[in-house]
Amino acid sequence: MRVLVVGSGGREHALVRAIAKSPLVTEIFCAPGNPGIATFAKLVPIAVTEIEALTRFAANNAIDLVVPGPEAPLVAGLYDRLHEQGIRCAGPSMAAAQLEGSKQFTKEVADAAGIPTARWEAFTDAEQALDFIRRRGAPIVVKADGLAAGKGVVVAQTVEEAEEAVIACLQEGSFGAAGARVVIEEFLEGPEVSVFALCDGTDAIFLGAARDHKRVGDGDTGPNTGGMGAIAPPPGFTHELRDSVMETIIRPTLHEMASRGIPFRGILFAGLMLTAEGPKLIEYNVRFGDPEAETLLPLLDSDIMPALLAVCDGGIKHVAPRWRAEASVSIVLAARGYPSAYERGTEIRGLDKAAADVEVTIFQAGTKADGSRILADGGRVLVVNATAPTLAGARSRAYATVDAIDWPEGFCRRDIGAHFT
Ligand code: AMP
Repeated sequence: MRVLVVGSGGREHALVRAIAKSPLVTEIFCAPGNPGIATFAKLVPIAVTEIEALTRFAANNAIDLVVPGPEAPLVAGLYDRLHEQGIRCAGPSMAAAQLEGSKQFTKEVADAAGIPTARWEAFTDAEQALDFIRRRGAPIVVKADGLAAGKGVVVAQTVEEAEEAVIACLQEGSFGAAGARVVIEEFLEGPEVSVFALCDGTDAIFLGAARDHKRVGDGDTGPNTGGMGAIAPPPGFTHELRDSVMETIIRPTLHEMASRGIPFRGILFAGLMLTAEGPKLIEYNVRFGDPEAETLLPLLDSDIMPALLAVCDGGIKHVAPRWRAEASVSIVLAARGYPSAYERGTEIRGLDKAAADVEVTIFQAGTKADGSRILADGGRVLVVNATAPTLAGARSRAYATVDAIDWPEGFCRRDIGAHFT
C-alpha cells in the first residue's frame, strides 16, 4: 500500500515511523514532512492546508491511505475531498471535525448524549455574557468557541479576569471569527488526563492515555505551550477508569454523532478532568496529540496499518493492537524564547550519538536540513522519547539522551513526569 501522511511535526514523525514498520506498506510520502521524517518517507512540498493540492497528489500517485496529523486540513475538508475521489482518509469529515472546531458544538453533543461535562452557556452578546459571569462568580472558565491555537481558554480565578476574557473575544475581536462566540463554563477540579480512541464511525477502541505538560517552565510555571512533554500511562489511570471513559464518554459521543448523520472516523482525543464525581469531558480534539503521539506510538507492539484501515473501512472492534506494558516519557526540546520570539537556524549536533539507545527515539519537529547539518526551524524542535519498565527508568533514559544532544540554543523542562516518581 501507498500511504500519505500529512504534517511536519514530531507527531507525524512518530506516525510515519510506526507506519514504516508495516509489512502492508510499500511506499510512504509525507507532506510537507521534515528531515527526520525523510528517513522513512518521500517528502512532498505541499502545505497541510492546501486541500486541493493534497487531493491531486493522492489521486495522481495511487495513494491507498491518507493519514492526517494536524486538525487544520480536517477542519478545512481534506476527508471530504479525498472521499469524493474514493481515497481513504483516516480522519473525520469536515462536519465531524466540528468536535474540535467548535466548543459549543461539542457541548451540545455532550448534553444530548448525557456525557459528564462542565455546565455551560454560550454567548455572542458581551453584555449578556458579563451579566452571566457576575451572577455566577469566580472561578469560572471562558472559552473562544472556535480554533484559537490553544490560546482561547481563560481559567479565570476572579470575575474581573473572566470579564476581560469576554471583552477580548466579543468586543475587541482578539481571536477574530473564532472568538465571535464564547462558551462560559463551570470550573472543574482534578488531575487532567488525555485519552485517545480509534473510531470507525460506529465503534471505538482504546489507544492509550497520557498526561501532558502544557506550561513552559518547571513546576507548571510560565505561559502555555503546544506541550513540553508527556508521560504514559498516567499514574493512577486504572482499567476501571479506562472502561468508564470508553462507556460514559467516547461511545456515547460516537452514537450521538452517528445519529446526527455525521459519523466520527479517526482518532478521538478526549481531554478529561478526573473530578471527585468521576471523569468529565473538557474538550475533544479530532487527531493525535503532539507530543502524545510520540509517547504512545513507541509502545505499540503490533502493526498500526490494520487499525488505520479499519478506521476507514469499518470493523475497528475486531482490531486488537498490542501494547508493551511499559512506561513512556517524551521531553520536548524547544528554541530559547519559545513560546514567545525565538531564533531559527541554530545548529543541532550529536543526534546520531544521542540516538544509540534502542529504547530511545529522537523525533524531529521544527527542523530543517542544510546539507548534512540539522538546523532548528521552529519553536518546538525535537522530542526525545524513552521507554522502560518503570517511569523513573524511562525518565532517566530520556534525560540522558537530552543531555547528549549538543544544542546550546535549546531548552527543555527538567521535571517531565517527576511529580509521579
Ligand atoms: P481546552 O483548550 O478546552 O483544553 O482548555 C485548556 C485548559 O484549560 C485545559 O487543559 C484545562 O487545564 C483548562 N480548563 C478547560 N476547561 C476547564 C474547566 N471547565 N475547569 C477547569 N479547567 C479547565
